[in-house]
This record gives sequence, structure tokens and C-alpha cells, in this order.
Amino acid sequence: MWISEVFNSIQGEGRYTGVPSSFVRTSGCNLRCTFCDTPETSWKPEGDERTLESLWGEVEAFECEHVVITGGEPLLVPEVVPFSKKLKARGHFITFETAGTVVRNVAADLMSISPKLANSTPVGTDWEARHEARRHRPAVIQQLIDEYDYQLKFVIDQQSDLADVEKWLEEFPKVQSENVYLMPQGTEFDQLQAKLVWLAEEAEKRNWQVSPRKHIELFGNKRGT
Ligand code: SF4
Repeated sequence: MWISEVFNSIQGEGRYTGVPSSFVRTSGCNLRCTFCDTPETSWKPEGDERTLESLWGEVEAFECEHVVITGGEPLLVPEVVPFSKKLKARGHFITFETAGTVVRNVAADLMSISPKLANSTPVGTDWEARHEARRHRPAVIQQLIDEYDYQLKFVIDQQSDLADVEKWLEEFPKVQSENVYLMPQGTEFDQLQAKLVWLAEEAEKRNWQVSPRKHIELFGNKRGT
């Protein structure tokens, strides 16, 4: 597997914010979001080849129940199927973090889906058309939310993005509002805090949640945190 990094930290986003977790970050992505906070897995992908045995050993050494398999887009990688199933058999709680454009038969206790809205499209770049064609796959989203416990984390930059979220959700009427999270776009503490204030008001009106980005608040936007 092509791996960008393996580290131990806390979950910074969504339902399990604050929970100690080990992270396995695969490298490679089929999208190129303007705001990507892990460009080393997308715009300039880099990493090392690891065997499944070596990855299992690294994760077990952390002795941490929660394991987050993230990217990049981890569901692009066929080996995440046996990897996740073995972790599950060993008693781990597994979260997959995905943009929801690919599906595989993985073992996951939580499918954490971050749908990519129009605000993610890298307008004017070589990737604009490919990104736009790939970023919304309704059949994949439906399968993921039918087959797994899930949360939806929407990255919000400005008020007008909220209309996009509402439109997106109209396609999936069975989505439970408590599984919808608004997350501020940004990589600086002050920027995130300012957005969280108005995001909290907007979320409350709709019975949605807000998600902080605790890892950025605590450690800055650094790798390995
Ligand atoms: S889907 Fe995630 S990893 Fe891929 S470009 Fe977008 S933010 Fe980056």
C-alpha cells in the first residue's frame, strides 16, 4: 500500500472528536479540492510502499482501540479491504474517512463521508473538468449510507455554501439530520473560530451539528497530528 503517514493522535473532527486514535493515511486521490489540507496525498502525492504486515505491526504498536483510515482517498486502495477486516477481527473500532466517490467492501464502524460541493472545484486548473465530473456520485453515497453507520461532514467556506448542502441533502431524504456536520474551511485557528460562530447558528436552525477541526486548533495544520 502506498502510505503517506501513520501516527497516533486524537480524532479532530465529527462524532468522535477528542477520542485517541491511530491514523493510517493512504496516498493518492481521484479529486483535487481547492482547499485540500493534505496536498501530499493529492496535488503532489508522495509516500512509501508498505506491506500489510508492516502496517498491522505499526498500528498494533500504538495500542489504540480507534483506528482511522484516511487519505487521500483510502477507498481507492484495494488492500484496505483485508487491512480493515483484520483490524476489526482484532477488536479495533474503525473509521474510514472518504469523499464518497468510491465504494469497497471494507470493515468500518463509521463511514465518515465528506461530500465535495461546488466550492471544492479547482477552477482554472488542469484538474477542473476531472474533479467536477467525479466529485458527486449519488449511487456511491447511497450505498455507503445504506450499508454503514455514517456521518456527513460538509466543508463550509461561506454562507452561500449552505444552499449547496441543502440541495445535496434533497437527493438523500433518508439522511438523519443528527448525522450532518458543518465544518469550517480553513487551516488557521482564528479563521476556523470565526466561521464556527455563524456555522453553529446555522446548524442549530436545521438540527445539524457543527464539527471543530481540533487537530488544527491544537497542533496547527501539521503532518503527523
Ligand atoms: S478528496 Fe480529500 S484528499 Fe482528495 S483532494 Fe479533496 S480534500 Fe484532498
